[in-house]
Amino acid sequence: MIKEIILSGIRPTGRLHIGNYFGALKNFVNLQKDYQCFFFIADLHSLNESFDPKEKHQQIVNLAKDYLAAGLDPKKCTIFLQSDIPQHAELSVILGSVVPVAYLFRMTQFKEKSSDRALDKVNAGLLYYPILMAADILMYDAAKIPVGLDQTQHVELARDVARFFNNKYGQTFIEPKPLYTDNPKIMSLLEPAKKMSKSLGDNHCIYLDDEPEVIKKKISKAVTDTGDGKGLGAKNLLNLIAIFSEPKINQQFLTQAKNKELKYSELKEQLATDLINYLSDFRENKKKITNQQIKKVLADGQKKVEKIVTAKMATVKKRIGIA
Ligand code: ATP
Ligand code: MG
Repeated sequence: MIKEIILSGIRPTGRLHIGNYFGALKNFVNLQKDYQCFFFIADLHSLNESFDPKEKHQQIVNLAKDYLAAGLDPKKCTIFLQSDIPQHAELSVILGSVVPVAYLFRMTQFKEKSSDRALDKVNAGLLYYPILMAADILMYDAAKIPVGLDQTQHVELARDVARFFNNKYGQTFIEPKPLYTDNPKIMSLLEPAKKMSKSLGDNHCIYLDDEPEVIKKKISKAVTDTGDGKGLGAKNLLNLIAIFSEPKINQQFLTQAKNKELKYSELKEQLATDLINYLSDFRENKKKITNQQIKKVLADGQKKVEKIVTAKMATVKKRIGIA
């Protein structure tokens, strides 16, 4: 049976946290069993943020290590670096010619990320981002794209791009669909009204490779409330207990909260212990992965996808009359 194709990527912009794991990576690991999967490191997409070029290579290697440590298996899925495949950028230029610019200006992510600045301070890459994303997806005939709700509009744009191109030049691309999973939204430890984000800063996040002492310290500093378990901070900590602790322990704290006698010191101690245990395999796995291993995984991935993209680009170029 031919397996459906799945594709997704994460930007190498910092260390992965437990939100990234539950929102994306854990799901990738499950999908590799049932689909033909491509998971890439979206380094070109990460250039639109301010960054230090001296750190970029390490961020890429680190994210590749996260992929493997979490359980992505290069025998079951293809892992590659976006910029190793220059055809992504080439296809994005071609696809740009079928998309009205108004479609890009109405993207919510563009509006949000550019709203605090005058347009002469907003880089064009931010506007063009969904077209590069469409190229990433359409290149591989991916049918399903595992994403968080925030990316729905971009997958819809990729569908529009496929349709516009197909109508103009003949059937070439599959229209992809988003694939949602139960995607718990994990909130910041210090500002629980916001989602946990790499860009918020170290003490807002539990990173997947945080050492036990660091986890203890971060949890002890997490904001709570006055004991009724209804404050956002407490709600977030109770959510984390529901994910990381035994059901019996979870029930115990829920009962405490219901009776308005939640003991935060106990809750935090339990959560820190269970988080440390939960993440220990990941932490140990990651330490064992060498830079050499990553080099090989990415080189193998590049070799595998080169065949696919060469064939696809030949078709695309023929359709538009440049081959
Ligand atoms: P940045 O601050 O650089 O935007 P981020 O932490 O928001 O970083 P992304 O690289 O934007 O991470 O997202 C990677 C994946 O993780 C996406 O699929 C996104 O939906 C998911 N994700 C990010 N934060 C959370 C969260 N707090 N809870 C659940 N899923 C999340
Ligand atoms: Mg983000």
